[in-house]
Amino acid sequence: MLNFIDIVGQDAVLSRLQRNLAAERLHHGFLFSGMRGIGRRTTAEALAKLLLCENRQIAPNAGRVSYLTDDELLELPCDECESCTLMEAGTHTDYHYVYKELAQYHDDADVRQRKMQMLSLPVVKQFLLDPADRAPSRGVGKVFVIREAELMSLDAQNAFLKTLEEPPPGVTMILLTQKAENLLPTTRSRCSAFRFAPLPEPFVISKLLDGEIPGREATFWARYTGGSIGLGLEMSAAGMYEIKCGMIEDLAALGAGRSGFGDAWAKTTDVLAEAEVSRAKKESGANLSKAVASRRAASGMLLLLASAHLDAITMATGMDRPLVHDDQKAEISSIAGRLSQTQLAEIIEQLSRYEQLLWRNVSAKIVWENVALTCQSAAPLIL
Ligand SMILES: [Zn+2]
Repeated sequence: MLNFIDIVGQDAVLSRLQRNLAAERLHHGFLFSGMRGIGRRTTAEALAKLLLCENRQIAPNAGRVSYLTDDELLELPCDECESCTLMEAGTHTDYHYVYKELAQYHDDADVRQRKMQMLSLPVVKQFLLDPADRAPSRGVGKVFVIREAELMSLDAQNAFLKTLEEPPPGVTMILLTQKAENLLPTTRSRCSAFRFAPLPEPFVISKLLDGEIPGREATFWARYTGGSIGLGLEMSAAGMYEIKCGMIEDLAALGAGRSGFGDAWAKTTDVLAEAEVSRAKKESGANLSKAVASRRAASGMLLLLASAHLDAITMATGMDRPLVHDDQKAEISSIAGRLSQTQLAEIIEQLSRYEQLLWRNVSAKIVWENVALTCQSAAPLIL
């Protein structure tokens, strides 16, 4: 587990947390928002470890971190007490990580059999509200970290709101979300909100290289994900890099008169969806439906196609912006040479419309056939 002092790339968040700690103005409800894989959970765990530590170390920063002046106070866990040891071992009974798939461990068999697409009231009650009411086992306090808080159902949020308004003494709740706007305004307004920024590109690349992702691919994921290490590692492990290279090659080949990629892309979506269903099952026991997995996979592929066309615009206009697909410059150049800027912009626009269609139960095969036609000539959406 990382300590505050080792977290990189989130200086604004960390300095504000430290200043609030020093002023003893720490809220009991936090909202950590931002994309996946940029350190929200790591920071939440580090904060939990600090709040639960039985011998917190408070001393002037004295040059230890760059985001505080030397005189400002830096608060760190002792790393020696039993609480710190338990946090490191992942077995602290006053630390609770709450997520929708906990439904599979619910006392009620009916809840265990549900689809787990939302963080439902029974799960929030058994794994958050009830334990929050019990006294902490080590006496210091309790910390709840809630993943994908935006998926909390309305009744769950309403029940949760009361605890958020008047939490039992020593209880801290940290909500993690990618879409803060999907939470009830009343939930948001009761939390101290922290927005996590995308990580700097060289840092992301170095971390991806550490994860044994080759250089070309690491640069691509750093740019494509807009600075998310977690997402880059995940996409790479899912074999998405090879898929994206193939799709960009297909786009370039469209210029050479080749066609029929719709079928191939539909098949790829299917393979990705199957893989996601079994991964979800293996990692968290979730029963992800094939339809949802297919839509997600298709959305991801449409985004990849859109990013290639955006790169083509960048190249055609000579904009001062690094290419996301710098690893496939020749293919991007062929796309830019074949289509006008108006056509490129039209294709990007249409790809986002196809994405919406996927959620309206239009047959995936038809969607992909049309996507391939659109990419060829920016012909209007025909469905
Ligand atoms: Zn400690």
